[in-house]
Amino acid sequence: MADPWLGKDRSYIWHPYTQMKDCRTMPPILIEKAQGLKLYASDGSFYYDTIASWWCNVHGHNHPVIKKAIKKQLDSLEQVLFAGFTHKPAIQLAEKLVRITPKNLTKIFFSDNGSTAVEVALKMSFQYWRNTGAAKKRLFVGLDRGYHGDTIGAMSVSGIGLFNEAFAPLFFPTLKVPSPYCYRCPMGKDRSSCRLDCVRPLETLLRERGKEIAALIIEPLVMAAGGMIIYPPEYLAKVRELTGKFNVHCIVDEVATGFGRTGTMFACEQADIQPDFMCLSKGITSGYLPLGVTLTTKRVFEAFYADYNLKKTFYHGHTYTANPLACAAANACLDIFQEQATLKAVKPLITMLRAGIEDMRSLDYVGDVRSAGMIGAIELVKDKRKKTPFSFKERIGLAVYKNGLKKNLLLRPLGNIVYFFLPLGVTRDELALILERSREVLCETLA
Ligand SMILES: *Cc1c(COP(=O)(O)O)cnc(C)c1O
Repeated sequence: MADPWLGKDRSYIWHPYTQMKDCRTMPPILIEKAQGLKLYASDGSFYYDTIASWWCNVHGHNHPVIKKAIKKQLDSLEQVLFAGFTHKPAIQLAEKLVRITPKNLTKIFFSDNGSTAVEVALKMSFQYWRNTGAAKKRLFVGLDRGYHGDTIGAMSVSGIGLFNEAFAPLFFPTLKVPSPYCYRCPMGKDRSSCRLDCVRPLETLLRERGKEIAALIIEPLVMAAGGMIIYPPEYLAKVRELTGKFNVHCIVDEVATGFGRTGTMFACEQADIQPDFMCLSKGITSGYLPLGVTLTTKRVFEAFYADYNLKKTFYHGHTYTANPLACAAANACLDIFQEQATLKAVKPLITMLRAGIEDMRSLDYVGDVRSAGMIGAIELVKDKRKKTPFSFKERIGLAVYKNGLKKNLLLRPLGNIVYFFLPLGVTRDELALILERSREVLCETLA
Protein backbone atom coordinates (compact mmCIF):
# COMPACT_ATOMS: atom_id res chain seq x y z
CA MET A 1 0.00 0.00 0.00
CA ALA A 2 1.98 2.93 -1.34
CA ASP A 3 -0.09 5.88 -0.18
CA PRO A 4 0.57 6.62 3.53
CA TRP A 5 -2.90 8.18 3.81
CA LEU A 6 -4.49 4.87 2.94
CA GLY A 7 -2.34 3.18 5.55
CA LYS A 8 -3.73 5.54 8.15
CA ASP A 9 -7.25 5.10 6.83
CA ARG A 10 -6.81 1.37 7.37
CA SER A 11 -5.46 1.94 10.88
CA TYR A 12 -8.23 4.16 12.13
CA ILE A 13 -11.38 4.17 10.03
CA TRP A 14 -14.42 1.90 9.97
CA HIS A 15 -16.37 2.67 6.77
CA PRO A 16 -20.18 2.43 6.44
CA TYR A 17 -21.81 -0.47 4.57
CA THR A 18 -18.37 -2.03 4.15
CA GLN A 19 -16.93 -5.40 5.07
CA MET A 20 -13.63 -3.99 6.30
CA LYS A 21 -11.83 -7.21 5.46
CA ASP A 22 -12.46 -6.45 1.77
CA CYS A 23 -10.38 -3.27 2.16
CA ARG A 24 -7.21 -5.37 2.32
CA THR A 25 -7.55 -6.14 -1.37
CA MET A 26 -9.73 -3.17 -2.27
CA PRO A 27 -8.65 -0.09 -0.33
CA PRO A 28 -10.98 2.93 -0.51
CA ILE A 29 -10.25 5.49 -3.19
CA LEU A 30 -8.79 8.70 -1.84
CA ILE A 31 -10.72 11.57 -3.39
CA GLU A 32 -9.14 15.01 -3.31
CA LYS A 33 -11.51 17.19 -5.26
CA ALA A 34 -14.59 17.15 -7.42
CA GLN A 35 -15.98 19.24 -10.22
CA GLY A 36 -19.39 18.82 -11.85
CA LEU A 37 -19.82 15.08 -12.29
CA LYS A 38 -16.18 14.17 -11.82
CA LEU A 39 -14.48 12.89 -8.67
CA TYR A 40 -10.68 13.28 -8.79
CA ALA A 41 -8.52 10.81 -6.90
CA SER A 42 -5.08 11.37 -5.38
CA ASP A 43 -3.42 9.02 -7.89
CA GLY A 44 -4.51 11.18 -10.82
CA SER A 45 -7.51 9.06 -11.85
CA PHE A 46 -11.09 10.35 -11.98
CA TYR A 47 -14.58 8.87 -11.84
CA TYR A 48 -18.01 9.94 -13.08
CA ASP A 49 -20.27 10.16 -10.06
CA THR A 50 -23.24 8.34 -11.64
CA ILE A 51 -24.88 7.76 -8.24
CA ALA A 52 -24.71 11.35 -7.03
CA SER A 53 -22.49 10.48 -4.06
CA TRP A 54 -25.17 8.27 -2.52
CA TRP A 55 -28.14 10.04 -4.07
CA CYS A 56 -27.57 13.49 -2.64
CA ASN A 57 -25.76 15.56 -5.26
CA VAL A 58 -28.24 17.46 -7.44
CA HIS A 59 -26.53 20.33 -9.27
CA GLY A 60 -23.01 18.87 -9.62
CA HIS A 61 -19.95 19.13 -7.40
CA ASN A 62 -18.19 22.40 -6.64
CA HIS A 63 -21.18 24.52 -7.65
CA PRO A 64 -20.34 28.25 -7.43
CA VAL A 65 -23.81 29.37 -6.28
CA ILE A 66 -24.05 26.92 -3.36
CA LYS A 67 -20.45 27.51 -2.35
CA LYS A 68 -20.99 31.23 -2.28
CA ALA A 69 -24.16 30.92 -0.19
CA ILE A 70 -22.41 28.78 2.42
CA LYS A 71 -19.42 31.13 2.59
CA LYS A 72 -21.71 34.10 3.06
CA GLN A 73 -23.63 32.36 5.84
CA LEU A 74 -20.37 31.34 7.49
CA ASP A 75 -19.46 34.99 7.99
CA SER A 76 -22.57 35.66 10.07
CA LEU A 77 -23.85 32.56 11.89
CA GLU A 78 -22.67 28.96 11.84
CA GLN A 79 -24.99 27.36 14.41
CA VAL A 80 -27.48 28.30 17.10
CA LEU A 81 -29.89 26.20 19.17
CA PHE A 82 -33.31 26.02 17.54
CA ALA A 83 -35.50 25.99 20.67
CA GLY A 84 -36.24 29.51 21.85
CA PHE A 85 -34.15 30.83 18.94
CA THR A 86 -34.61 30.99 15.20
CA HIS A 87 -32.79 32.35 12.15
CA LYS A 88 -33.52 33.69 8.68
CA PRO A 89 -32.03 30.86 6.57
CA ALA A 90 -34.42 28.38 8.24
CA ILE A 91 -37.42 30.70 7.92
CA GLN A 92 -36.68 31.34 4.24
CA LEU A 93 -36.28 27.64 3.57
CA ALA A 94 -39.49 26.73 5.39
CA GLU A 95 -41.42 29.29 3.36
CA LYS A 96 -39.95 28.00 0.09
CA LEU A 97 -40.66 24.36 0.93
CA VAL A 98 -44.25 25.09 1.89
CA ARG A 99 -44.68 26.83 -1.46
CA ILE A 100 -43.36 23.94 -3.59
CA THR A 101 -44.71 20.89 -1.74
CA PRO A 102 -48.36 19.65 -1.79
CA LYS A 103 -50.54 22.47 -0.58
CA ASN A 104 -51.86 20.78 2.59
CA LEU A 105 -48.30 20.59 3.96
CA THR A 106 -47.80 23.83 5.84
CA LYS A 107 -45.69 23.01 8.90
CA ILE A 108 -41.98 22.20 8.88
CA PHE A 109 -39.95 20.31 11.47
CA PHE A 110 -36.19 20.31 10.89
CA SER A 111 -33.63 17.63 11.71
CA ASP A 112 -30.33 16.57 10.19
CA ASN A 113 -30.59 13.43 8.03
CA GLY A 114 -33.02 11.12 6.27
CA SER A 115 -33.43 8.61 9.08
CA THR A 116 -34.27 11.35 11.56
CA ALA A 117 -36.76 12.89 9.12
CA VAL A 118 -38.48 9.48 9.11
CA GLU A 119 -38.30 9.02 12.90
CA VAL A 120 -39.92 12.43 13.34
CA ALA A 121 -42.82 11.50 11.05
CA LEU A 122 -43.36 8.18 12.86
CA LYS A 123 -43.26 9.77 16.30
CA MET A 124 -45.50 12.66 15.29
CA SER A 125 -48.07 10.32 13.83
CA PHE A 126 -47.97 8.08 16.91
CA GLN A 127 -48.36 10.98 19.30
CA TYR A 128 -51.04 12.61 17.14
CA TRP A 129 -53.37 9.68 17.79
CA ARG A 130 -52.51 9.70 21.49
CA ASN A 131 -53.09 13.45 21.76
CA THR A 132 -56.46 13.12 20.02
CA GLY A 133 -57.77 10.31 22.22
CA ALA A 134 -57.15 7.43 19.77
CA ALA A 135 -54.22 5.81 21.56
CA LYS A 136 -55.21 2.40 20.15
CA LYS A 137 -53.83 3.48 16.80
CA ARG A 138 -50.19 2.54 17.31
CA LEU A 139 -49.14 0.22 14.48
CA PHE A 140 -47.25 1.15 11.32
CA VAL A 141 -47.57 -0.35 7.86
CA GLY A 142 -44.64 -0.56 5.46
CA LEU A 143 -43.85 -2.23 2.14
CA ASP A 144 -41.93 -5.49 2.25
CA ARG A 145 -39.08 -4.05 0.18
CA GLY A 146 -39.19 -0.52 1.56
CA TYR A 147 -36.16 1.26 2.98
CA HIS A 148 -36.40 4.20 5.35
CA GLY A 149 -33.03 4.47 7.08
CA ASP A 150 -30.76 2.78 9.59
CA THR A 151 -32.01 3.92 13.01
CA ILE A 152 -34.13 1.43 14.95
CA GLY A 153 -37.48 3.02 14.14
CA ALA A 154 -36.64 3.53 10.46
CA MET A 155 -35.38 -0.06 10.25
CA SER A 156 -38.56 -1.33 11.90
CA VAL A 157 -40.78 0.09 9.17
CA SER A 158 -38.42 -1.04 6.39
CA GLY A 159 -38.56 -4.46 4.74
CA ILE A 160 -36.30 -7.08 6.26
CA GLY A 161 -33.25 -7.75 4.13
CA LEU A 162 -29.50 -7.95 4.04
CA PHE A 163 -29.03 -4.50 5.61
CA ASN A 164 -31.16 -4.92 8.71
CA GLU A 165 -31.83 -8.62 9.35
CA ALA A 166 -29.22 -8.78 12.14
CA PHE A 167 -31.29 -6.29 14.13
CA ALA A 168 -34.76 -7.72 13.51
CA PRO A 169 -35.22 -8.85 17.15
CA LEU A 170 -35.03 -5.19 18.17
CA PHE A 171 -37.77 -3.92 15.87
CA PHE A 172 -41.16 -2.81 17.11
CA PRO A 173 -43.98 -4.78 15.47
CA THR A 174 -45.05 -3.50 12.06
CA LEU A 175 -47.37 -4.76 9.35
CA LYS A 176 -45.96 -5.39 5.89
CA VAL A 177 -47.68 -5.47 2.53
CA PRO A 178 -46.29 -6.66 -0.84
CA SER A 179 -44.36 -4.19 -2.99
CA PRO A 180 -45.60 -3.09 -6.43
CA TYR A 181 -42.60 -4.74 -8.08
CA CYS A 182 -43.91 -5.16 -11.62
CA TYR A 183 -41.01 -7.30 -12.91
CA ARG A 184 -41.54 -9.75 -10.06
CA CYS A 185 -45.25 -9.13 -9.51
CA PRO A 186 -46.34 -10.37 -6.07
CA MET A 187 -49.72 -11.32 -7.56
CA GLY A 188 -48.21 -13.08 -10.58
CA LYS A 189 -49.81 -10.59 -12.97
CA ASP A 190 -48.58 -8.52 -15.88
CA ARG A 191 -48.69 -4.73 -15.82
CA SER A 192 -50.26 -4.56 -19.27
CA SER A 193 -53.38 -6.32 -18.03
CA CYS A 194 -53.37 -6.02 -14.22
CA ARG A 195 -55.71 -3.74 -12.31
CA LEU A 196 -53.22 -2.82 -9.61
CA ASP A 197 -54.20 -6.06 -7.87
CA CYS A 198 -51.13 -5.69 -5.64
CA VAL A 199 -52.89 -2.95 -3.67
CA ARG A 200 -55.59 -5.38 -2.48
CA PRO A 201 -53.64 -6.85 0.47
CA LEU A 202 -53.26 -3.30 1.76
CA GLU A 203 -56.96 -2.62 1.33
CA THR A 204 -57.84 -5.77 3.27
CA LEU A 205 -55.37 -4.92 6.02
CA LEU A 206 -56.67 -1.37 6.42
CA ARG A 207 -60.27 -2.52 6.44
CA GLU A 208 -59.61 -5.16 9.10
CA ARG A 209 -57.11 -3.39 11.31
CA GLY A 210 -57.33 0.30 10.43
CA LYS A 211 -58.44 1.15 13.95
CA GLU A 212 -55.08 -0.07 15.30
CA ILE A 213 -52.97 1.58 12.60
CA ALA A 214 -51.35 4.98 13.01
CA ALA A 215 -49.68 5.37 9.63
CA LEU A 216 -48.43 3.82 6.43
CA ILE A 217 -44.99 4.80 5.13
CA ILE A 218 -44.00 4.58 1.48
CA GLU A 219 -41.27 5.70 -0.90
CA PRO A 220 -43.16 7.44 -3.72
CA LEU A 221 -42.63 5.99 -7.25
CA VAL A 222 -39.15 4.62 -6.64
CA MET A 223 -38.29 2.12 -3.91
CA ALA A 224 -34.65 3.02 -4.01
CA ALA A 225 -32.50 0.88 -1.69
CA GLY A 226 -34.90 -2.05 -2.21
CA GLY A 227 -33.54 -2.31 -5.76
CA MET A 228 -34.67 0.82 -7.64
CA ILE A 229 -38.15 -0.67 -7.97
CA ILE A 230 -40.15 1.79 -10.04
CA TYR A 231 -43.92 1.54 -9.86
CA PRO A 232 -46.88 3.31 -11.50
CA PRO A 233 -48.15 6.59 -9.99
CA GLU A 234 -51.64 5.05 -9.98
CA TYR A 235 -50.50 2.70 -7.19
CA LEU A 236 -49.43 5.65 -5.07
CA ALA A 237 -52.71 7.47 -5.74
CA LYS A 238 -54.61 4.35 -4.65
CA VAL A 239 -52.53 4.09 -1.45
CA ARG A 240 -53.35 7.69 -0.59
CA GLU A 241 -57.02 7.11 -1.30
CA LEU A 242 -57.16 3.99 0.91
CA THR A 243 -55.25 5.50 3.84
CA GLY A 244 -57.64 8.46 3.75
CA LYS A 245 -60.67 6.20 3.60
CA PHE A 246 -59.56 4.16 6.63
CA ASN A 247 -58.31 7.11 8.69
CA VAL A 248 -54.62 6.15 8.60
CA HIS A 249 -51.82 8.68 8.09
CA CYS A 250 -49.88 8.51 4.84
CA ILE A 251 -46.15 9.26 5.22
CA VAL A 252 -44.28 9.73 1.95
CA ASP A 253 -40.56 9.24 2.31
CA GLU A 254 -39.11 11.47 -0.41
CA VAL A 255 -35.60 11.33 1.06
CA ALA A 256 -34.25 9.77 -2.15
CA THR A 257 -36.82 10.94 -4.71
CA GLY A 258 -37.12 14.59 -3.71
CA PHE A 259 -35.54 17.54 -5.49
CA GLY A 260 -36.10 16.68 -9.12
CA ARG A 261 -34.73 13.18 -9.20
CA THR A 262 -37.81 11.62 -10.82
CA GLY A 263 -38.40 14.48 -13.26
CA THR A 264 -40.75 16.49 -11.04
CA MET A 265 -39.63 18.38 -7.94
CA PHE A 266 -41.24 15.70 -5.78
CA ALA A 267 -42.28 12.23 -6.90
CA CYS A 268 -45.70 12.45 -5.24
CA GLU A 269 -46.66 15.25 -7.67
CA GLN A 270 -46.91 12.59 -10.36
CA ALA A 271 -49.76 10.94 -8.47
CA ASP A 272 -51.19 14.33 -7.48
CA ILE A 273 -51.53 13.31 -3.83
CA GLN A 274 -51.57 15.19 -0.56
CA PRO A 275 -49.82 13.08 2.10
CA ASP A 276 -50.06 13.74 5.85
CA PHE A 277 -46.28 13.76 6.19
CA MET A 278 -43.40 14.19 3.79
CA CYS A 279 -39.78 13.36 4.69
CA LEU A 280 -36.93 15.11 2.89
CA SER A 281 -33.14 15.00 3.11
CA LYS A 282 -30.40 13.82 0.70
CA GLY A 283 -30.82 16.24 -2.26
CA ILE A 284 -32.12 19.09 -0.13
CA THR A 285 -28.69 20.76 0.12
CA SER A 286 -27.53 19.26 -3.19
CA GLY A 287 -25.18 17.12 -1.15
CA TYR A 288 -23.32 19.96 0.57
CA LEU A 289 -24.36 19.59 4.20
CA PRO A 290 -26.58 17.27 6.24
CA LEU A 291 -30.18 18.42 6.71
CA GLY A 292 -33.50 16.70 7.25
CA VAL A 293 -37.05 18.00 7.04
CA THR A 294 -40.43 16.56 7.98
CA LEU A 295 -43.44 18.42 6.62
CA THR A 296 -46.92 17.98 7.96
CA THR A 297 -50.39 19.47 8.01
CA LYS A 298 -52.09 22.13 10.09
CA ARG A 299 -54.35 19.40 11.43
CA VAL A 300 -51.45 17.37 12.85
CA PHE A 301 -49.80 20.51 14.19
CA GLU A 302 -52.98 21.57 16.00
CA ALA A 303 -53.24 18.24 17.86
CA PHE A 304 -50.00 19.21 19.68
CA TYR A 305 -50.91 22.87 20.18
CA ALA A 306 -52.21 23.11 23.74
CA ASP A 307 -51.57 24.44 27.24
CA TYR A 308 -48.20 23.25 28.49
CA ASN A 309 -49.67 21.25 31.37
CA LEU A 310 -51.64 19.03 29.01
CA LYS A 311 -48.39 17.30 27.98
CA LYS A 312 -49.14 17.43 24.28
CA THR A 313 -45.74 18.89 23.37
CA PHE A 314 -43.61 17.13 20.76
CA TYR A 315 -40.49 16.35 22.79
CA HIS A 316 -38.07 15.61 20.02
CA GLY A 317 -35.08 17.45 18.62
CA HIS A 318 -31.55 17.06 17.35
CA THR A 319 -28.62 19.24 18.30
CA TYR A 320 -27.93 20.31 14.71
CA THR A 321 -31.60 20.91 13.89
CA ALA A 322 -31.87 23.45 11.05
CA ASN A 323 -28.16 24.20 10.98
CA PRO A 324 -27.88 27.66 9.37
CA LEU A 325 -25.10 26.65 6.96
CA ALA A 326 -27.16 23.68 5.77
CA CYS A 327 -30.26 25.88 5.40
CA ALA A 328 -28.24 28.39 3.37
CA ALA A 329 -27.08 25.57 1.08
CA ALA A 330 -30.68 24.34 0.71
CA ASN A 331 -31.91 27.83 -0.16
CA ALA A 332 -29.22 28.13 -2.81
CA CYS A 333 -30.09 24.67 -4.17
CA LEU A 334 -33.72 25.75 -4.64
CA ASP A 335 -32.68 29.10 -6.15
CA ILE A 336 -30.71 27.21 -8.81
CA PHE A 337 -33.79 25.14 -9.68
CA GLN A 338 -35.67 28.35 -10.28
CA GLU A 339 -33.02 30.49 -11.96
CA GLN A 340 -31.71 27.78 -14.26
CA ALA A 341 -35.08 26.08 -14.86
CA THR A 342 -33.35 22.81 -13.98
CA LEU A 343 -36.47 20.65 -14.29
CA LYS A 344 -37.07 21.89 -17.82
CA ALA A 345 -33.42 21.61 -18.82
CA VAL A 346 -33.23 18.03 -17.65
CA LYS A 347 -36.18 16.78 -19.75
CA PRO A 348 -34.19 15.81 -22.87
CA LEU A 349 -31.65 14.06 -20.67
CA ILE A 350 -34.41 11.99 -19.09
CA THR A 351 -35.49 10.84 -22.55
CA MET A 352 -31.91 10.05 -23.41
CA LEU A 353 -31.36 8.05 -20.22
CA ARG A 354 -34.54 6.06 -20.79
CA ALA A 355 -33.56 5.24 -24.38
CA GLY A 356 -30.02 4.36 -23.31
CA ILE A 357 -31.01 1.83 -20.74
CA GLU A 358 -33.90 0.50 -22.83
CA ASP A 359 -31.21 -0.28 -25.36
CA MET A 360 -29.58 -2.61 -22.83
CA ARG A 361 -32.70 -4.72 -22.37
CA SER A 362 -31.65 -7.14 -25.08
CA LEU A 363 -28.24 -7.86 -23.53
CA ASP A 364 -27.56 -11.31 -22.11
CA TYR A 365 -28.34 -11.52 -18.40
CA VAL A 366 -30.43 -8.34 -18.40
CA GLY A 367 -33.83 -9.29 -16.96
CA ASP A 368 -35.44 -5.87 -16.67
CA VAL A 369 -34.67 -2.21 -17.26
CA ARG A 370 -36.66 0.61 -15.70
CA SER A 371 -36.37 4.35 -15.25
CA ALA A 372 -38.01 7.39 -13.69
CA GLY A 373 -36.51 10.79 -14.33
CA MET A 374 -32.76 10.66 -13.81
CA ILE A 375 -32.97 7.30 -12.04
CA GLY A 376 -32.40 4.25 -14.21
CA ALA A 377 -31.94 0.61 -13.28
CA ILE A 378 -30.84 -2.59 -14.96
CA GLU A 379 -31.72 -5.82 -13.18
CA LEU A 380 -29.27 -8.64 -13.89
CA VAL A 381 -30.48 -12.24 -13.84
CA LYS A 382 -28.88 -15.61 -14.38
CA ASP A 383 -31.73 -16.87 -16.50
CA LYS A 384 -33.78 -14.34 -18.43
CA ARG A 385 -36.76 -16.59 -18.97
CA LYS A 386 -37.05 -17.81 -15.41
CA LYS A 387 -35.88 -14.48 -13.95
CA THR A 388 -33.47 -16.37 -11.66
CA PRO A 389 -31.39 -13.90 -9.67
CA PHE A 390 -27.62 -14.23 -9.31
CA SER A 391 -26.90 -15.56 -5.85
CA PHE A 392 -25.58 -13.37 -3.04
CA LYS A 393 -22.26 -15.21 -3.09
CA GLU A 394 -21.59 -14.53 -6.75
CA ARG A 395 -21.15 -10.84 -5.97
CA ILE A 396 -22.01 -9.83 -9.50
CA GLY A 397 -22.50 -6.25 -8.33
CA LEU A 398 -18.95 -6.14 -7.06
CA ALA A 399 -17.64 -7.31 -10.44
CA VAL A 400 -19.61 -4.51 -12.15
CA TYR A 401 -18.23 -2.02 -9.63
CA LYS A 402 -14.62 -3.05 -10.29
CA ASN A 403 -15.01 -3.05 -14.05
CA GLY A 404 -16.77 0.31 -13.87
CA LEU A 405 -13.83 1.89 -12.08
CA LYS A 406 -11.54 0.77 -14.91
CA LYS A 407 -13.68 2.87 -17.25
CA ASN A 408 -13.89 5.93 -15.01
CA LEU A 409 -17.37 5.06 -13.79
CA LEU A 410 -18.58 5.01 -10.23
CA LEU A 411 -21.27 2.32 -10.49
CA ARG A 412 -22.27 0.84 -7.16
CA PRO A 413 -24.93 -1.79 -7.82
CA LEU A 414 -27.44 -2.81 -5.16
CA GLY A 415 -26.88 -6.56 -5.34
CA ASN A 416 -27.92 -7.52 -8.87
CA ILE A 417 -29.36 -4.11 -9.70
CA VAL A 418 -27.02 -1.83 -11.62
CA TYR A 419 -28.38 1.68 -11.49
CA PHE A 420 -27.85 5.34 -12.27
CA PHE A 421 -28.93 8.04 -9.87
CA LEU A 422 -27.62 10.96 -11.82
CA PRO A 423 -27.06 14.53 -10.69
CA LEU A 424 -29.43 16.75 -12.70
CA GLY A 425 -26.37 18.80 -13.64
CA VAL A 426 -25.03 16.04 -15.93
CA THR A 427 -24.29 17.22 -19.49
CA ARG A 428 -25.46 15.52 -22.67
CA ASP A 429 -21.96 14.46 -23.59
CA GLU A 430 -21.31 13.05 -20.14
CA LEU A 431 -24.56 11.10 -20.20
CA ALA A 432 -23.74 9.65 -23.63
CA LEU A 433 -20.33 8.57 -22.39
CA ILE A 434 -21.71 7.09 -19.17
CA LEU A 435 -24.31 5.06 -21.06
CA GLU A 436 -21.85 3.80 -23.64
CA ARG A 437 -19.24 2.76 -21.10
CA SER A 438 -21.80 1.19 -18.78
CA ARG A 439 -22.97 -0.97 -21.64
CA GLU A 440 -19.37 -2.05 -22.22
CA VAL A 441 -18.95 -2.79 -18.51
CA LEU A 442 -22.06 -4.99 -18.51
CA CYS A 443 -20.98 -6.85 -21.65
CA GLU A 444 -17.48 -7.46 -20.34
CA THR A 445 -18.58 -8.46 -16.84
CA LEU A 446 -21.24 -10.87 -18.03
CA ALA A 447 -19.34 -12.33 -21.00
C1 LIG B 1 -31.26 7.16 2.33
C2 LIG B 1 -32.67 7.06 2.71
C3 LIG B 1 -33.07 7.27 4.04
C4 LIG B 1 -32.10 7.50 5.16
O1 LIG B 1 -31.40 8.70 5.02
P1 LIG B 1 -30.01 8.90 5.82
O2 LIG B 1 -29.68 10.32 5.61
O3 LIG B 1 -29.04 7.96 5.17
O4 LIG B 1 -30.27 8.54 7.23
C5 LIG B 1 -34.43 7.24 4.32
N1 LIG B 1 -35.33 7.00 3.35
C6 LIG B 1 -34.98 6.78 2.07
C7 LIG B 1 -36.04 6.56 1.05
C8 LIG B 1 -33.63 6.78 1.71
O5 LIG B 1 -33.29 6.53 0.44
